[in-house]
Amino acid sequence: MAEANIPKKNLHALLIPYPFQGHVNPCVHLAIKLASQGITVTFVNTDYIHHQITSNPINGSSSGDIFAGFRSESGLDIRYATVSDGLPIGFDRSLNHDQYQASLLHVFSAHVEELVARLAGDGDGGVNVLIADTFFVWPSAIARKFGLVYVSFWTEAALVFSLYYHMDLLRLHGHFCSQGRRKDLIDYIPGVKAIEPKDTASYLQDTDTSSVVHQIIFKAFEDVKKADFVLCNTIYEFEDRTIQALNSKIPFYAIGPIIPFGIKNKTVTTSLWSEADCTQWLNTKPKGSVLYVSFGSYAHVTKHDLVEIAKGLLLSRVNFVWVVRPDIVSSEENNPLPDGFETEAENFGIVIPWCCQMTVLSHPSIGGFLTHCGWNSILESIWCEVPLICFPLLTDQVTNRKLVVDDWKIGMNLCEDRSLVAKEEVATNISRLMCGKSREEVKGAIGRVKMSLENALSPTGSSDQNLGLFIDGLMDKAHKSNGHV
Ligand code: UDP
Repeated sequence: MAEANIPKKNLHALLIPYPFQGHVNPCVHLAIKLASQGITVTFVNTDYIHHQITSNPINGSSSGDIFAGFRSESGLDIRYATVSDGLPIGFDRSLNHDQYQASLLHVFSAHVEELVARLAGDGDGGVNVLIADTFFVWPSAIARKFGLVYVSFWTEAALVFSLYYHMDLLRLHGHFCSQGRRKDLIDYIPGVKAIEPKDTASYLQDTDTSSVVHQIIFKAFEDVKKADFVLCNTIYEFEDRTIQALNSKIPFYAIGPIIPFGIKNKTVTTSLWSEADCTQWLNTKPKGSVLYVSFGSYAHVTKHDLVEIAKGLLLSRVNFVWVVRPDIVSSEENNPLPDGFETEAENFGIVIPWCCQMTVLSHPSIGGFLTHCGWNSILESIWCEVPLICFPLLTDQVTNRKLVVDDWKIGMNLCEDRSLVAKEEVATNISRLMCGKSREEVKGAIGRVKMSLENALSPTGSSDQNLGLFIDGLMDKAHKSNGHV
């Protein structure tokens, strides 16, 4: 638990997550980690994210400050501010994903700058550090303008960071955005074990690079080269050679896993949607018998794939809890599941719109996780020792699948050919994960990987040490920049 009253370090960091669930979650817990070290943190949510979190009374947070309860309980100096992302709160960001991203690309920084001007000019105790998600394109400009130390926070695997960071090498070798055309291994990225082009992040494979997300990634990875420090939500032991190689270019610190451990004392609510509580239902199921199914917070699944997965679940007869977000196919498609699905599954499966994932994963009856391979989901599943069955959809999920299935062997593929999702294969692989002989192998492997995560967080562990080194470096840098720390 966080300690109060430890000496302050005269560091005041503004921490700005990318406004998506999978970024807000680790940023909230990074804020707690840093504040526990005596750093003052002002956490910045967009008005939209703030509205989503606080408008769900069932989440237990109706206050104007999502840290209010935590602050009074812990005594830690975490402040809270909100800014506009440039769009009206009621705008459908899921349906109009590109417009949302365009606003983050072009408009958001002006709102952030206004806030920084206010907080950095607060005299002694004002903001002197900017910690911003690596996907933002503007942190170096704002940090330079206000004399702040610039820390970039990468919420995904170091491997994915390294692939983006070395985009120029992919271009040089002809592997950049060459979907399907090149099959030969990529064996020239410093510190990265040879990797197949199909396992790189989807944005590095797409042949059309004109999308707004591509523009964001290209600019963001120029900007991060100007960062003073990079923090990464991984552990050194998972990706040692990749991290060593990155460290020769930029101070890069693996300080993970940053996940919500204290689920029992959940005092900071981060869910953007109301959480359904399925504990009672789970209590009725045998240990390790239930498959948890979720494709994260924003990726869409095609109707065809969704229907095949639904039919595969029915065929497998395995107990399941399935998070089907209302916009899972699109916010215009109200009921994407096959007619009668829930009635047919009534004795062994339930469908919910959202849940507290850590609460579900840590329930003893959960025995497997059918996942889209979001990085947070993977870390959370490892922490709860729940083996994975992988159905990556886009972005880093594609690369994360390789880590889970090929490298760490803590999970299996849902379908060997990702472009051919068929109910029979879905059912067979779900059964293999939940009850086959291969289950024992992945269960053993995930236990060992979990130990690495636990060790990294121990007082002499790599993540704890790296956090200490980062804070020493930050103090030094802030001292040199501001002269008053
Ligand atoms: N999550 C949750 N409830 C759900 C589904 C997801 O709390 O019903 C959380 C999950 O615990 C994780 C985050 O949402 O922390 C999703 O992040 P991830 O990186 O796995 O995927 P993304 O949503 O970014 O694709």
